[in-house]
Amino acid sequence: MERLVSTDFYNILSQISVQEMDPENIFKVFRETMPRVAVSRGIVLLRATMYEPKKRSREMNVTEVVLLDASGGEETNNIELEYATANGGRVIVVSGIKRDEIWTTECKEDCYVLSKAIYLLVGRAKTMSSLYNLMFYDQLTGIANETGLNRFMGTTIHKGKFTSYCSNFLNIKNMKLLNSRYGDAAGNIIMNGFAKAIDQFASTEGSGIAARLGGDNFLVFILQEKEDEFLQFVSNIIVPYEVGGEKHNIKVESRVGYYFIKAGDGINECMRNADVAVKLTRNNDGINVIKFEESMKTHMLKMKQLEQNVPEAIANKEFVVYYQPKVDISDEGNFRLNGAEALVRWVRDGEMVPPGEFVPVLEKNGLISLIDYYVFEQVCIDINDWIARGMTPVKVSSNFSRRHLQDKDFASKVEAIIRKHNVDTKYLEIEITESYEDEDMNALMAFEKSMHAIGVHLTVDDFGNGFSSIKMIKNIVADTIKLDKSIIDGIGNEGADDIIVSHIIQMLNKLGKNIIAEGVETKEQANFLRANGCNNIQGYLFAKPCARDVFESYM
Ligand code: C2E
Ligand code: CA
Ligand code: CA
Repeated sequence: MERLVSTDFYNILSQISVQEMDPENIFKVFRETMPRVAVSRGIVLLRATMYEPKKRSREMNVTEVVLLDASGGEETNNIELEYATANGGRVIVVSGIKRDEIWTTECKEDCYVLSKAIYLLVGRAKTMSSLYNLMFYDQLTGIANETGLNRFMGTTIHKGKFTSYCSNFLNIKNMKLLNSRYGDAAGNIIMNGFAKAIDQFASTEGSGIAARLGGDNFLVFILQEKEDEFLQFVSNIIVPYEVGGEKHNIKVESRVGYYFIKAGDGINECMRNADVAVKLTRNNDGINVIKFEESMKTHMLKMKQLEQNVPEAIANKEFVVYYQPKVDISDEGNFRLNGAEALVRWVRDGEMVPPGEFVPVLEKNGLISLIDYYVFEQVCIDINDWIARGMTPVKVSSNFSRRHLQDKDFASKVEAIIRKHNVDTKYLEIEITESYEDEDMNALMAFEKSMHAIGVHLTVDDFGNGFSSIKMIKNIVADTIKLDKSIIDGIGNEGADDIIVSHIIQMLNKLGKNIIAEGVETKEQANFLRANGCNNIQGYLFAKPCARDVFESYM
């Protein structure tokens, strides 16, 4: 009588290397060595164990059952063995032969052996699955990591399906703020919820994959025909979280750069292009989704060059200062120039690059500080020049990155430039973006004191952009608050914005702060601001930033 389990079974099994422990392989071994044994369901669960640890645990946590289906269920034709697992679960292995075969003693013996073999295999698969898990899945969110992503992409390339995908680089907006505001634990929950949402979309509806590349960066692979739907989905992800026992929901906003993969692209290409596109969203206020275009590559190359050559570019006078007028609108019929903001421009190969495209890059590596001091110095020079030429300058504000607050010599560096040019400080103002981090708050307070002592005005820029809270208002040390364009944009849209803006203005007025609104583009906005007690504006309604000589004509 032919045995069910031949020595071939063990021989072949022992030759399968760990990498080849693919369920298909094991199935093949079963099939080839035991034609009379039915093995289908057992294999399915083995596959689940090895390849989808997440799903597996959901399916198998209660009772871990591995069935070697005897496809007929006649009791005499199979043997059921039960094993206890380390985590208190059970594995039941049923092995048997097909119904029309004769159930001999040898058969039974073989089924015992088989059952034991399956059990061992499952054990091996479990070790494998934890290895797989570590190797291919992100430990914080449970979705794929970069290796998992690469494996997926490798497979799609292998299947010739790579070009049916679109790669999306996603970056959660304000993750740092979320963490500092709600605490790291809640921050993690929020990130997790976001990861799960995109993963679910990608793996079910998009037949793709979502992977966390580290930090708050994700790469999502979506079938091209699902891309629109995906972008729609991403713009509206709501995640529940808990702080101090209270349940909340938060809309997690992200920036997306996406790229439709083309023939001939490799893995690097499709990741890099989506990355290039997402980087550009950082430089564009209000634009969260950008599609990759070839021209972006030359742009990025320029940025790289700039990063390497800021001092050289400064020496070559590639940076020029533009001035945008600030006006007093208290007299409706007669706007009066009462200040200006200095805004840097980079002239590269005769082309004007707006700061939105390079300031964020230089903010990251700290080179922005060179530019800030350069612009400030140019402003000092221009003011003296205007006076020398018989003009009466207005107060000019210069932007300084928040990074400077970490430099304990910030104030003295500013003072040194003022002394060097011997400029009257009543013409000088400094804009710094608001922040909510306490350390920064203290540094800002100290800086404000130093500036106050020498008569330099301080303005908190971009107020209302991001995470303002009413509590913040009373802590603001600056003389002037600049209302961010994003809240001005909302004026007249019949939402809550009107109410909020008017109350913010009221509060700031009561606290004795000066207020200026930026990004004012329409008469309606100006009228609303005036009616509500804000008489200083800056925006295209009056003038765009312009070259020095044009600005002189305004003065
Ligand atoms: P910001 O400080 O908020 O400057 C205001 C920006 O809004 C300017 O863009 C200005 O051109 C634009 N703007 C003003 N009015 C309007 C309007 O009515 N409508 C619209 N759509 N836009 C308006 P710009 O010059 O491109 O500067 C962008 C940002 O670059 C600045 O935002 C600032 O954060 C940064 N930046 C510019 N120069 C410097 C600098 O010397 N140092 C530092 N650290 N940052 C700078
Ligand atoms: Ca500014
Ligand atoms: Ca601003």
